[in-house]
Order: sequence, then C-alpha cells, then structure tokens
Amino acid sequence: MENSERRLKNCGLKITRQRREIIKILEQSTRPVSAENIFLALRQQGGTVSLSTVYRVLEILVNKKAVRRLNTVDESGALFELDDTHRHYLVCLGCHKMFPLDDCPLETYEKKLTCQTGFDVTGHSLEIYGYCRDCCKKKKN
Ligand SMILES: [Zn+2]
Ligand SMILES: [Zn+2]
Repeated sequence: MENSERRLKNCGLKITRQRREIIKILEQSTRPVSAENIFLALRQQGGTVSLSTVYRVLEILVNKKAVRRLNTVDESGALFELDDTHRHYLVCLGCHKMFPLDDCPLETYEKKLTCQTGFDVTGHSLEIYGYCRDCCKKKKN
C-alpha cells in the first residue's frame, strides 16, 4: 500500500483517486500549498479535476484531520499541508489566526544542544505570539 493510501485509511477515509493524488502532492511539497496550486499540479499531471472538486476534497481531508488548513499573513487565502508536518506558527492574540513559518529555526540548535549536553533531543514545540498585520491596523485606528 502506498503512503498516501495508508494516510487515508488511518483517517477512516475511503481511498479514491482524487484524494490519493491530492495527498501525494502534499507529501511531495516542502511548503504549505494553496488549493489553486494543487489544482495546477494535478493539471500538469494530466488530471481533469476542477478547482471546485479540489476544494471539496480538501474540505473532507481537513474534516478527517488528514490535512491541516493554515491561514496566511498576506491575503493569498488558505494553505494546506499534511496534518503531521513539523511546523511552527505565529499565533495572533487578536484574531487567533495561526500563520505558519517557512522553516524550523531550531534544527541546528537541537544538534548543538546534543553535542554540548549529551541530552538526546527527540523533539520540541514553539509558538510565537503577537498581533497580525490586520490586528495591528485595527489597534492603530
Ligand atoms: Zn490578528
Ligand atoms: Zn521545529
């Protein structure tokens, strides 16, 4: 069984071609992707699904927690990623939106810690709190 199929099964979802293909695109991507980019990637692979189908499938995947929906700091709309991706967020205390960071700033620090202390680091969590651009604007007005 393929990885993408196992993910669907683990989330109690039936395996369909569209679901499998969308999961695969998310697996291949190192960054969160928009529904539109998933749609374009499917097109490139010769798929014939419509953008509305992509949205509908993503909705199901998000509901079953196979995929996570992220807000963006700019106005480019929602981004999607697999729910088990290692990710850090900026958390807005005003509107409670979460904005993903592109990369993990602690990877090299973890290695350094292991070298310096002999502590076998197995993971970490990090969230950064503050106010998003929209909320900053509202605060000023
Ligand atoms: Zn906000
Ligand atoms: Zn990290």
